[in-house]
Amino acid sequence: MSFKDLGLSPALLTALDDAGYTQPTPIQSGAIPVALSGRDVLGIAQTGTGKTASFVLPMIERLSRGRAKARMPRSLIVEPTRELAAQVAENFEKYAKNFKLNMALLIGGVAFGPQEKILNQGADVLIATPGRLLDHFERGRLLLNGVQILVVDEADRMLDMGFIPDLERIFSLTPPVKQTLFFSATMPPEIQRLVSRFLKDPERVEVAKPATTAATVRQLLVRVPDRTPKTKRALLRAALDQPDVKNGIIFCNRKRDVDVVARSLQRHNYSADPIHGDLEQRQRMATLDRFKTGELRFLVASDVAARGLDIPAVSHVFNFDVPHHADDYVHRIGRTGRAGLSGVSVTLAGPEDAKNLAAVVKLIGKDIEEVRFGGGAPAAPEAGEPAAQTDARDGDKPASGRSRSRRGRKPADGESRPAPAADAARPRTPGEKGDRERSEKRGDKGDERRGGDRNEDGERKVTGFGADMPDFFRRR
Ligand code: AMP
Repeated sequence: MSFKDLGLSPALLTALDDAGYTQPTPIQSGAIPVALSGRDVLGIAQTGTGKTASFVLPMIERLSRGRAKARMPRSLIVEPTRELAAQVAENFEKYAKNFKLNMALLIGGVAFGPQEKILNQGADVLIATPGRLLDHFERGRLLLNGVQILVVDEADRMLDMGFIPDLERIFSLTPPVKQTLFFSATMPPEIQRLVSRFLKDPERVEVAKPATTAATVRQLLVRVPDRTPKTKRALLRAALDQPDVKNGIIFCNRKRDVDVVARSLQRHNYSADPIHGDLEQRQRMATLDRFKTGELRFLVASDVAARGLDIPAVSHVFNFDVPHHADDYVHRIGRTGRAGLSGVSVTLAGPEDAKNLAAVVKLIGKDIEEVRFGGGAPAAPEAGEPAAQTDARDGDKPASGRSRSRRGRKPADGESRPAPAADAARPRTPGEKGDRERSEKRGDKGDERRGGDRNEDGERKVTGFGADMPDFFRRR
């Protein structure tokens, strides 16, 4: 099937041709003809399936007839996060370049003024996050009774983020007679209720079973032997050092860990920056841009901030921990292996992740292949061999280096991290160098150096181990 068969006009076909799309994806073939006919659509699809175009294209087609009135947008796309909203706006601009349609992006974290200006001129399409949209509405800057097409994207995410009351309000502020295009990767009962209440006889278009993992992603699991974040961070670095890693997103369950992991990686001279909801919008966008252009190699992210980010060339996804919701695992690893490229996901799982891991395995219906990178789980020193040496400058030394010296053998192919000299010779980005200099100025030389507590043997205490500190952490 071609885009022409879906009933799209020549102006849109040209834009799609320019975008390099030759064939519609399954969600596009299923949803576009229905949406063009004016019917409601319930699309069950994950990001990465081409679902954005499946609602943006028919919307452009339908809006190309008629004109916008001041403060009365003709269509509204609601997105759970600012990044997703900005991404959909980019898509809209790409597809609508041959049309005279006005688009306003209403997201938090940026000034109201310019947004209001576009609203006053008359927006054909409004792309918004629920909070900022209702803010504008409350200020009387916008009326929603001219909305003819309402798109709700990533509805299950909105549920996770507590936006259901806002969504209900948005539905009730828009006219009862309109077209609704509703997308969700999964259909939990709350979402099902919303659909039954607000959609009219929707055509259900489902492209992949909810929560199936892409076949193009090789999923790996690294067992973490204890509950210490430091062990996890060492194993993470061993995973990042694998030769096939070009770039990657590192997911953490908690915002606090996003910062801690990013800082720790910076201290170890990795090009890594955090992205989470507490950072300023401008900073998040700048970080994302640096990641997209390749200036930044690793993005450390929370689920919410990275949700649905469209970054075509991510070689790896790393799960610093197993997500609390098994669905999130599928979303996370869906950031790689996109658009036909192959990808790898590496999940670190410690004892504390056991329950979440079992839920993921149940959801995806198969075990995740276990691997050990650069020594994997550190083992106790063998008899007659010296205990592992701890780097004098920074105790949080790569696990692989430790295991290599202990075993006294050359690591097998695919197992090693670059030799220290090669690692030192790795080109640094300017940001990386600056980060390191800054942290050194602060005298912040490693996670372990904070707090110099010693136990009765004069050994440095490691928080969290109590009396059971394993041998490999002891140093003379
Ligand atoms: P989405 O699921 O909307 O986030 O889209 C995922 C990626 O697929 C985006 O980079 C789109 O630009 C791209 N894409 C969407 N439709 C097509 C298509 N028909 N052919 C090739 N790439 C596409």
